[in-house]
Amino acid sequence: MTVLVINSGSSSIKYQLVDPESGEAIAVGLVEQIGEESSHIKHTYKGEKHEYDQPIADHGEGLRFVLDLFENIGPKLADAHIEAVGHRVVQGGNHFDGPALVTQEVRDLIEELAPLAPLHNPAHLRGIDVARELLDVPHVVVFDTAFFQSLPEEAARYALDREIADKYSIRRYGAHGTSHQFVAQAVADYVSRDDLKQIVLHLGNGASVSAVLNGKAVDTSMGLTPLEGLVMGTRTGDIDPAAIFHLSRVGGLSIDEIDNLFNKQSGLKGLAGVNDMRAVWSLAESGDAHAREALDIYVHRIVKYIGSYAAVMGGLDVIAFTAGIGENDDLLRAEVLERLAGFGLKLDAETNAVRGDEIRQISTDDSSVQVLVVPTNEELAIARQAMEVIGK
Ligand code: ADP
Repeated sequence: MTVLVINSGSSSIKYQLVDPESGEAIAVGLVEQIGEESSHIKHTYKGEKHEYDQPIADHGEGLRFVLDLFENIGPKLADAHIEAVGHRVVQGGNHFDGPALVTQEVRDLIEELAPLAPLHNPAHLRGIDVARELLDVPHVVVFDTAFFQSLPEEAARYALDREIADKYSIRRYGAHGTSHQFVAQAVADYVSRDDLKQIVLHLGNGASVSAVLNGKAVDTSMGLTPLEGLVMGTRTGDIDPAAIFHLSRVGGLSIDEIDNLFNKQSGLKGLAGVNDMRAVWSLAESGDAHAREALDIYVHRIVKYIGSYAAVMGGLDVIAFTAGIGENDDLLRAEVLERLAGFGLKLDAETNAVRGDEIRQISTDDSSVQVLVVPTNEELAIARQAMEVIGK
């Protein structure tokens, strides 16, 4: 029994064939640079990478190519017992508080939400349409925003003119919800308790933090779009919106230039010149003052959110670190926790330094808050949600 998980972007298709029970990723791959002169395709099966460079005109051709790879390299899909295809969708607006079986109506709603995610939703739809044509099994959509539909109005509504905000659907939708939900559930299973005040830190290229009270999200740092909140690889995170007026009026920048500046040229890249956290560390360690300052700003922002979310929930039981930086960067985790020492948080330096694929505790047993590293797995979460939707 398997689920094919598909994440289609504007010029890419990422896929994973997942066993939803064991969690095994049986085959993993991607098609990049769709529509460009030459596309890059990578398919990994049984530990062997197969790579190709050739033009792929559109998503349909890309997916057909992938299905041929399954046939020729394996695993053969006819023998893989695919029960469903799970599609990642970035924006579900207020329409979806959970996964949904793809019907014409669901498809139309995703299309209707395109203005809120102009780069993502149309690309997802392209992937969904061709996959439905080529794979005759139930298709399920899993939304990045769904977990955050439980946010109370006081956290989701901006203090913006009510009529305008509602007319243009401007509110906090959050993002990375599949990961936050997966991690929060993994934490609850690990500590064998559901009644928890948790803060989940998803620190990857994109980064977000959520406050999860008794299994339900009550606040999150990403907003109308994934631009708000923490410092990210190339995104500003929180910034006074008046900076936009100022850059426009005084700097003469266009809206598109400011959009590009805030989303693609800022964050670690804007502060330190590089967006990869490992590169920021190596610059800082070689004495680069801007890189060291970028780390300080990054940590400061995280600590500020932890304090405010602990206040929002009236206490704190668990902090969970996840994603590329959260799972691997022990130095960064140590810096965050050092700043919280005044609240009784105590790092266990030994377990913090250990690398692993398993959920683990990095605080001492007498720490006021339990701190965990929790490997996230969005594909597995999507596969399991797809199985639930089809009742298996
Ligand atoms: P994405 O949002 O693209 O899925 P990931 O969750 O893979 O991102 O995280 C990518 C980030 O994780 C990069 O900034 C990378 O430098 C960082 N990262 C990966 N391994 C390490 C490590 N050992 N130490 C510090 N940062 C790491």
